[in-house]
Amino acid sequence: MQLVSGLKTYKMFELNKLVRKNIRDLKPYSSARDEFTGEDAIFLDANENPYGELNRYPDPYQKILKKKLSELKSMPSENIFIGNGSDEIIEQAYRIFCNPGKDRALTFSPTYGMYEVSAAINDIQLITVPLNNSFQINLKKLGEYFNDPFLKVIFICSPNNPTGNGIRNIEKILKEFKGIVIVDEAYIDFSTEASFTEKIELYPNLIILQTLSKAWGLAAARIGIAYASAEVISLFNKVKPPYNVSLLNQQAAVAALSNLAEFKNKRDLIVSERENLVNTLSLLSSVKKIYPSDANFFLAEVNDADKLYHHLVAKKIVTRNRTTLVRNCIRITVGSPAENEKLINALKEFKA
Ligand code: PMP
Repeated sequence: MQLVSGLKTYKMFELNKLVRKNIRDLKPYSSARDEFTGEDAIFLDANENPYGELNRYPDPYQKILKKKLSELKSMPSENIFIGNGSDEIIEQAYRIFCNPGKDRALTFSPTYGMYEVSAAINDIQLITVPLNNSFQINLKKLGEYFNDPFLKVIFICSPNNPTGNGIRNIEKILKEFKGIVIVDEAYIDFSTEASFTEKIELYPNLIILQTLSKAWGLAAARIGIAYASAEVISLFNKVKPPYNVSLLNQQAAVAALSNLAEFKNKRDLIVSERENLVNTLSLLSSVKKIYPSDANFFLAEVNDADKLYHHLVAKKIVTRNRTTLVRNCIRITVGSPAENEKLINALKEFKA
C-alpha cells in the first residue's frame, strides 16, 4: 500500500485507499507516440491524414503549455494537469475518487453549480452544508462529517461563486479531513488573497483548480488547470481522454500566458471597474446591499430580483438571477467601462 505523508499534517494520508478500485487497476490508453520520443519521424501509427495543418493529434500531455505554467507559477510540470476547462477536472475527480451509488462528496451552499451536476451525473450523493451569514464555513457543523468513511471529496470554492468572497479556515479542513480537498480558485487572479498553490507540498490531499476562462480571458479555449501532488496528477492523466486539449487551445493558452502585461492591464481594469460599479450601485434606491467581492462579479441584494432581472433583460442586459440561492440577489459580472455604464443607466431607470 502506498503511503504519502504530509510534512506537517496531523494525519497520514492514504491516497490509494481513496482511489476507486477500477481506477487503481486501470490500464490507461497508450499510443505508439507515447513510446516514441524522437523527432522528425515518419508517423504512420495513428491513422492520421498526412496532409494539412491540423492533421496530427496534439501533444496529449501539453508539455509546452505546462512548461509555460511551470515557469509562471514556480511549479514543476509533474504537479500540473490540464483539463478541457476546469469543469472536466471536476467531473474526473468524481470518477477517480467516488464510487457511484456509494460514496459521498461535500460542498457549501451557495456555491458553483457544477459540483452538484457532476455529482448527479456520477450518481454520487453531494452533501451541501450552508455557509453562515457572512458566507463563511461554520467549522463546528463540519466535524461530524470528517469520520464518514464514504465521504471522499470536499469542494471549496474560494473566492466563492456566486458570493464573491474568499473562504477562511481552509487549512483547518485540509488538516482534519482525511479525504481529498478541492479548492476551486477560478477567480483567484482578481483576489488580494494568496493562492493555495504554495501549499501543495504541505498537504497531499489538496487539489487546486484554476482556469484561463476568467482573468486570462480564454473562456472559449477551455483550459482548466489542476495543481496537486505528482501522485494525484498521475491519476488524472490515467483517466483523461488521450487528446483532451486541442492544439489550437494549447497554442492560445501559451500565447495568453506569454503576454503578462496585457493580462495584468485587463485584470486591473476589471478590478477597478468592479470598485466603480459597487460604489455607484450602492447609491441606488433599488439596491439594498452589495456583498464584498474578490472576484470579477459581485452579488447585489435588491428589492425584487425577478422584476429587476426582467427589467434588465428587456434592455438586453443579461445578469444572473440568484434569488433561488440567496433571496433577492442578482449576480453581476463586471463588463467593459461602456457596458458597465449601460448597466448603471438601466438600473437608474428601474422603479421598484
Ligand atoms: N469553477 C468555478 C467556481 C466557476 O465559476 C467556473 C465557471 N463559471 C468554473 C469552475 C468552470 O470553469 P472552466 O471554464 O475552466 O470550465
